[in-house]
Amino acid sequence: MMSAESPQVVSDPAVLRAALTVIRRQGKRIGLAPTMGALHEGHLSLVRACKAECGYTVVSLYVNPSQFGPSEDLAKYPRTWEADLAALAGVGADLVFAPRDAEIYPSDYATWIEVGGVAEPLEGQHRPGHFRGVATVVLKLLNLVQPDVAYFGQKDFQQALVIQRLVADLNVPVEIRVCPIIREPDGLAMSSRNRYLSPAARQRALVLWRSLERARELTARGERSAAAILAQMRAVILQTEDAQIDYVALVDPQTLLPVEALTGPTLAALAVKIENTRLIDNYLLEP
Ligand code: AMP
Repeated sequence: MMSAESPQVVSDPAVLRAALTVIRRQGKRIGLAPTMGALHEGHLSLVRACKAECGYTVVSLYVNPSQFGPSEDLAKYPRTWEADLAALAGVGADLVFAPRDAEIYPSDYATWIEVGGVAEPLEGQHRPGHFRGVATVVLKLLNLVQPDVAYFGQKDFQQALVIQRLVADLNVPVEIRVCPIIREPDGLAMSSRNRYLSPAARQRALVLWRSLERARELTARGERSAAAILAQMRAVILQTEDAQIDYVALVDPQTLLPVEALTGPTLAALAVKIENTRLIDNYLLEP
């Protein structure tokens, strides 16, 4: 097998700008897939989608401190630099942008992006300040890379909506693509945080997918009452030892506001802690 060519690795924004100016002059369409590293097939699916549509693929690897709450897992967030670079070489990424904290948030840093509306419920309610950090770093990455297209995963459904809102409201000249959730063979949504799970907790973590499947079955059988579906989704989770519900919700996929009856496409979304690891997942129900 031919060994894949390694992507160019850049941490300095000035070097990034110079490299991308050359690419832009060649008339290439530039795509960006922002990640926090600890890459898995979910991330790589974004890179592959980018490669299919763009002449030049940039992947950012940056664990953004401002999107973690004070009691969250910033310090222990998995960092797997060598493996990430090997995986990115394998899928043919062209450039890896891995800035240092001091370049993104210098000591006199003072500007923050607050998205309202879709950023407020669900994760917004349970992780105060999270989307402020996400929106700020994503806008900075979009300004640094100035991609034609940027790729996000439906795994973070609300995040993708928040980014779409941000880009529309602030007239950012980029197209946003949202790619499907990549799952393990047994249904668990891939996540960098799955690495935290002990083998026993990894099994129990399947309860998120089972709960979403229950919602799908009930919807397929004609159930239209959100209360009835939510009760069963919760029951599935609460049968599992040591599963703690942050939220289980049935919401309008555009506004993320709760629905009472499933009269059109409805997002089932949940956040559950298993053995102190907070996992999220979602599924678009189409009654
Ligand atoms: P993260 O590194 O967790 O910030 O994720 C970077 C990007 O990868 C985000 O747009 C995520 O939505 C996306 N992503 C993470 N997990 C998955 C998955 N299982 N399937 C598809 N996209 C994913």
